[in-house]
Amino acid sequence: MNELLKKTAAEQSKALKNKEISAVELTQAAFERIDELDEKLGTFNSLTKETALNTAKKVDEKIAQGEELPLLAGIPLALKDNMNLVGSKTTASSKILENFVSPFNATITQKLLDNLVPIVGKANLDEFAMGSSNENSAFRKVRNPWDLNKVPGGSSGGSAASVASCEATLALGSDTGGSIRLPASFCGIVGMKPTYGRVSRYGLIAFASSLDQIGPFTRSVEDAANLLEVISGHDPKDSTSLNLPVEHFAAGLNNDIKGKKVGVIKELISEGLTEDVSKAMEKAIETYKSLGCEIVEISLPRLKYSIGIYYILATAECSSNLARFDGVKYGYRTPNAKNLMEMYTKTRAEGFGPEVKRRIMLGTYALSSGYYDAYYKKAQQMRALVTEDFKKSFEQVDILISPTCPNTAFELGAKASDPLAMYLTDIATISANLAGIPGISIPAGFDKDGMPIGLQILAPQLQETRLFNMSYKFEQAHDYWKQLANI
Ligand code: GLN
Repeated sequence: MNELLKKTAAEQSKALKNKEISAVELTQAAFERIDELDEKLGTFNSLTKETALNTAKKVDEKIAQGEELPLLAGIPLALKDNMNLVGSKTTASSKILENFVSPFNATITQKLLDNLVPIVGKANLDEFAMGSSNENSAFRKVRNPWDLNKVPGGSSGGSAASVASCEATLALGSDTGGSIRLPASFCGIVGMKPTYGRVSRYGLIAFASSLDQIGPFTRSVEDAANLLEVISGHDPKDSTSLNLPVEHFAAGLNNDIKGKKVGVIKELISEGLTEDVSKAMEKAIETYKSLGCEIVEISLPRLKYSIGIYYILATAECSSNLARFDGVKYGYRTPNAKNLMEMYTKTRAEGFGPEVKRRIMLGTYALSSGYYDAYYKKAQQMRALVTEDFKKSFEQVDILISPTCPNTAFELGAKASDPLAMYLTDIATISANLAGIPGISIPAGFDKDGMPIGLQILAPQLQETRLFNMSYKFEQAHDYWKQLANI
């Protein structure tokens, strides 16, 4: 492997500017790394070599002419395969979209292209982003670069594994209930979910529109702040996009955090943690103390309902969003139908995988007349109360911390036949989506088997700069983030 691939985007940018390597060479090095690992890891659904190399060439031309480079220009990036890139297959890892070629760019894709970020490929995921282990892909499983017998986490497992294994330096994922933070934690990298509305969802295949948010995977906090800057901003094509100026999120990275109040979420450290995760949490608390922060225990009394609330709202929204896949407008159409009704039903029965079908059925039930008030409406009311819990707690503290997950990456197959056990993996991450607040997972140690542990940090809405500052200070106090999977 080209040693430069192991560096952060900030370091690679310097190397490009100093002409230690050209952008085309760096992109080619990434493709060599992908070739070497593809069979082992299953990271990518497809590669986009032409797009990537064309972009890299433009970067080299600019360098040759001594022009200023846009932020992250020339740094190889993997796009989760539920985001549209013109001319590439966008499958959502589903059979129903197996041969669907994007006729347009997502807003985030256009921003990446404008910033001359080479997009190397479309990363594998759980079908339609539904899952926590990346075992729900209709094509192949993704494996964890730290241990090939373990899951990388989901649903953005391919994105996380690509960055953790240095196939790409940057990746984008989508986070509806934890799908960026969980795989980041399982793969020992940084993964960040912005405030709802920060990043346009136009061109992201919708799962649950009121919860979905696109965000960065990187190997350092600084890179995550910069990647968020590239992809965020108001977009008239997404009615939920916030009309706010783009911030320079890395501005306050190194600000002193002495005197800041760090809230430890009581409900997420009291039970169910493995011993190693529990120890890592104690150490994280000590770290913040040594940086001069005050530690406050915070209770979020309604957090325990968040998984229940999520699985009503997310399934309800997905049953509606996925209604468009019916064999008429997009993707797969059954060849075996005798009439229109059969065409619809067979297309969907043959095109969707079991987890997606389970979600559509649950959501349709929750929305059906007679049950709507008992389930959907109740869940919406409870969502408001969870949001209220966060608001109150942020009156007392600057950030909240918890483990990203009570455990580290598990063996492939360990939870595959038990949907409830799988759903519980997201206990720490889901509530941030319900409340629309930003959250991050950063490396915070290793368990006895050498598997990475993630620390989750949450901040109030729109306080990304604070979130990155508090993350950076923690990151720099240790060298966990510098350790790479030995693959
Ligand atoms: N694991 C959760 C689910 O299966 C979250 C997925 C996500 O964030 N996309 O729905």
